[in-house]
Amino acid sequence: MQQGAAKRPTIGIVGGGQLGRMLTLAAKPLGYDVVVVDPGTNCPAAQVGATEITANLYDEAALKELASRSTIITVEIEHLDTHVLEALEKNGAVIHPAPATVRLIQDKYLQKAFLREHSVPVADFTEVTSTADAKAALKNFGGKMLLKTRHGAYDGRGNMVTQSPADIAKAFALFEGKQLYAEAFVPFERELAVMVARSVDGDVQAYPVVQTIHERNICVEVLSPAPVPAAVQEKAHELAVTVANLLKGAGMYGIEMFLTEAGEVLVNEIAPRVHNSGHHTTEGNRTSQFEQHIRAITGLPLGDTRLIAPATVMVNILGERNGDTEVKGLSDALAIPGVHVHLYGKSPTKVDRKMGHLTATADTLDQARQNAHAARKALSI
Ligand code: AMP
Repeated sequence: MQQGAAKRPTIGIVGGGQLGRMLTLAAKPLGYDVVVVDPGTNCPAAQVGATEITANLYDEAALKELASRSTIITVEIEHLDTHVLEALEKNGAVIHPAPATVRLIQDKYLQKAFLREHSVPVADFTEVTSTADAKAALKNFGGKMLLKTRHGAYDGRGNMVTQSPADIAKAFALFEGKQLYAEAFVPFERELAVMVARSVDGDVQAYPVVQTIHERNICVEVLSPAPVPAAVQEKAHELAVTVANLLKGAGMYGIEMFLTEAGEVLVNEIAPRVHNSGHHTTEGNRTSQFEQHIRAITGLPLGDTRLIAPATVMVNILGERNGDTEVKGLSDALAIPGVHVHLYGKSPTKVDRKMGHLTATADTLDQARQNAHAARKALSI
């Protein structure tokens, strides 16, 4: 442990946004103090009692300070300086997941190559360094593909569907200066996700498979459990456990997948952290993904992942305009049975910024969806 380590057990989180906030809310009842590094003052995690070190996530001094004040470090985001974390780890800091895992995942091309190397089914993909490479890939992939930035992409920023040399030129202009790769377009039947926890002791627990629905490449809705046959659920579950076991370090992992029309399950992407596809677990499952993450990284037994309610639907509350944050309609939303609202305390509101989410639990997915949509409609932010 670093010199000057905290006396009380303290979780240090790189990032204090909504995920850091919900991790803080899960860590405190288990007796942990929480310190976060975040660039914004009074970040979402600080508002619920985390101590904040206000700094950029790439700030070496801030990460060192975080290590000196924490017993265990974790992350809420993969876009950070893994070299600093790796150096801290070498000096004895306990970091979950392993910085090497975060480094692998933060380069989407290397992540995909790693998965393919380990025989995990993924869409066809290839490295591209020039428009000539991209044109060749387009031909190989049957005339429709995505150009994706290798680093720094989130919520769909960094992806472009391309079907022609003109699209390729557009993507190269838009992503100028960034390393890219190309991926075959998957005409998926639906998207699935599995949240899976691995504890420091190597115990692995997956949550029931969910369906995720994206608009403009942003997750807008999650249906739990996924309305797919048991055989598909089993395949997705097995794949998620396999992937989690390939990665070093404890904690939650979000495994995003495509279900193809032929019934094949392909892994799209890994998140080395709690994830939007697991927000429903706070109301829908016996242990939330946030508590599970804290349990996993601190060596506590993993909690029961089973469903509490027959159906839970999560809908993201995305910003509808740019400006000050003002929430209206909370009372109407909460009057709907089984609805819970989580606001992240972010200001300002921006178009498509994740400002909060809500869940609706019900006896059927149809009812939960109907209630979740009615609640979302009642709210304005
Ligand atoms: P990503 O950030 O790369 O996971 O992509 C965000 C969203 O874009 C996914 O959830 C899909 O809806 C869509 N997408 C990404 N890759 C592909 C692909 N190869 N084929 C079809 N849609 C994709």
